[in-house]
Amino acid sequence: MLDLRIKKHRPLLVSVGIFITIFCACLYFISLSNTNFKQNQRLLLSGMARSQAAEIERNLSLSLTSTQILAHQISIDYEKVNHFESYAQTIMQSFEGISSIQLAPEGIIRYIYPLQGNESALGLDILNHPKYGEAAQLAIAERRMIVIGPVKLVQGDIAVISRTPIFTKTSNGNEQFWGFASALIMLTPLLEKTGIHQLEEEGYTIQIQRRHTDSKQTFDFYQSPTELDKNAAVEADITLPTGAWTLTLSHNITSVLHTRTLNMLFVALLLSSICSLSLYNILIRPIRLQKEVNAKTLELKELAFRDPLTGLPNRRFLNDHFPNIIKEIVANKSLGAFIYFDLDNFKSINDTIGHDVGDQMLASIADRLERNKDHDDIVLRLGGDEFAIIVPSLVSHEELKRKAEAILHNTQQSLSIRHRDFKQSTSLGITLIPDHGTQVLELMQYADVALYEAKRRGKNQYVIFDDSMHKQSVDTHNEEMALARALERDELVLHFQPQFDLSLNKIVGAEALVRWKHPDKGLVYPDSFIPLAEQSGQILALGNRVIEKSFEYLAYREALGLYPILLHINLSSLQLNDPNLVPFVKSMVQTYNIPGHYIGFEITETTLLTDINHAKETLEELKSLGICIAIDDFGTGFSSLGQLKNLPVDLLKIDRSFVWDLERDKDDRMIVEAIIAMAHKLDIMVIAEGVESNAQLNMLREFHCDLGQGYFISRPIPQEQFNDFPESITLNDLLDA
Ligand SMILES: [Mg+2]
Repeated sequence: MLDLRIKKHRPLLVSVGIFITIFCACLYFISLSNTNFKQNQRLLLSGMARSQAAEIERNLSLSLTSTQILAHQISIDYEKVNHFESYAQTIMQSFEGISSIQLAPEGIIRYIYPLQGNESALGLDILNHPKYGEAAQLAIAERRMIVIGPVKLVQGDIAVISRTPIFTKTSNGNEQFWGFASALIMLTPLLEKTGIHQLEEEGYTIQIQRRHTDSKQTFDFYQSPTELDKNAAVEADITLPTGAWTLTLSHNITSVLHTRTLNMLFVALLLSSICSLSLYNILIRPIRLQKEVNAKTLELKELAFRDPLTGLPNRRFLNDHFPNIIKEIVANKSLGAFIYFDLDNFKSINDTIGHDVGDQMLASIADRLERNKDHDDIVLRLGGDEFAIIVPSLVSHEELKRKAEAILHNTQQSLSIRHRDFKQSTSLGITLIPDHGTQVLELMQYADVALYEAKRRGKNQYVIFDDSMHKQSVDTHNEEMALARALERDELVLHFQPQFDLSLNKIVGAEALVRWKHPDKGLVYPDSFIPLAEQSGQILALGNRVIEKSFEYLAYREALGLYPILLHINLSSLQLNDPNLVPFVKSMVQTYNIPGHYIGFEITETTLLTDINHAKETLEELKSLGICIAIDDFGTGFSSLGQLKNLPVDLLKIDRSFVWDLERDKDDRMIVEAIIAMAHKLDIMVIAEGVESNAQLNMLREFHCDLGQGYFISRPIPQEQFNDFPESITLNDLLDA
């Protein structure tokens, strides 16, 4: 179950996995890229900070040198103190940022340039000053320049004081402390000169601080208006004669980093989404395809189980589903039924009014059956006008009878198609499940037997199968098998009834009539086995056997040197509609080397009417082989002589019912005379069948009937007897016979 669920959602899970993997990889890449970016920025800043610190250091050193220069001058010749102002002026002009220069002989400030504004410093005792004293002592002790500050001046500026001790040589060559040369160096102009503001304008932040060597306390004496960015801040030292300052340089990359990160996240999200969606699409495609195929297969399966004309389940549905329904009925120990039916005389509707009307009628009846069925019942169309209803659950036999009567009643209601009203009836054969069987074939066969019985009893009724019918069905089955064996074992023989030329008084032809030499029953006549052959689908094989036997006989006669005859063979409607008929006849002509004009085919009017156009085509093809076309039983059907004009007919066979009463019935005489006269006008010869008396023969001769056939001339006789039949016969021969 879990496996199935995982399998079902696998594309989604895989795609989510791919999304997470790609997104994580992107995050790693973003972090790597940001680190790189920061490192690059720091490298760049580091270079800049070092060069900026060096620049400050250089400028400051230069300015600090001012006191050393002054100290040097004084140490060489302290008389130069008298020219202090001019020295100081020169120095101030030469070095940047120096605000004032002082000289403090013996540590007390006596000279200041410029004096104006600095008067308060005059007389300041540096060595004993609480703030500067210690540093001054150190400078003397180490004989080097010291830098004090940076300090915040009263006016707000930041400055450093450079103080160099001055030593002069005594007469004995020793050096002795003379005083201090000091300079007040303003940092603002000095820093300005190093291009610090330019950097600030470019977005850099600078902080300069001094860290006290011992206390580690810091004093920030320069700070750009913008805040330092901790993400990208680098430090560089500014080395001074005493101690060092720290320059911190930063550039605001946090917002740049944010923007970069957001952009890259967006790209990562997009990339992960595209990849995972593409993959999902690829993975889902076979599933979608499978779904489509399944849906299509289901649809086709549905279609395969439906009859396209009526939309009802079809025979395939029956074969597929009926066994399960039967199983359920048996398992539930309930009662079911199979109702099998077709429409009485439906074939004539198709044949006479047309297949499209027939189809509409079937569709309407199917609709009516479907609408009036009970809930569980399944109405099926099995093909043609064959329908069936499966009743999966029956309460009683009365219920079944009510259903059967309802079907009969519903089918009988008139139907209006193309402004014409039609009335139909149906016959029902019913089997009970499981009483009559639990196999589909069995139930269908018995239902068919019951249906046959319903038709036999006069149609428009229902018959429920019973065991007596079973015997009948077994008998029918046995008979069918026997007929199949008869064809196999060649038990069929031909008898011949001579046809007599009334004017020439000689035998010109014969009608071949099939007989079955049944091993048990003896000679069986076609009335008994032709319907069986039709019902079991053996009629074509039987018909072809008769044709072949006829050709065989003609070849035999020729070989014996007997007089030539025109042999007539009866052709059923199924044979006439058989597309293999003409090729078969052609093959017979070739095999037995018998020209077509020795063969005639007798076709009844009703046979012709099933599909007159097709019949015409077939007859014309047969005619082209020289075969004589005869219309059998003429006068009993619906055809007129006018219709025959369009068909390739050579011979009319007047039905025996007209000949029978020729002596007594005036109407029959007139009809026969008229038929003969009209046929002759159409160049069609006439043969009368059922001639049983001399009077009939004479009358037919009077009407100029061409040929005659009947007991008066001869009964149908076996082959050996017919071989001996004389060609010419007189009236006396016939009367004697
Ligand atoms: Mg016939």
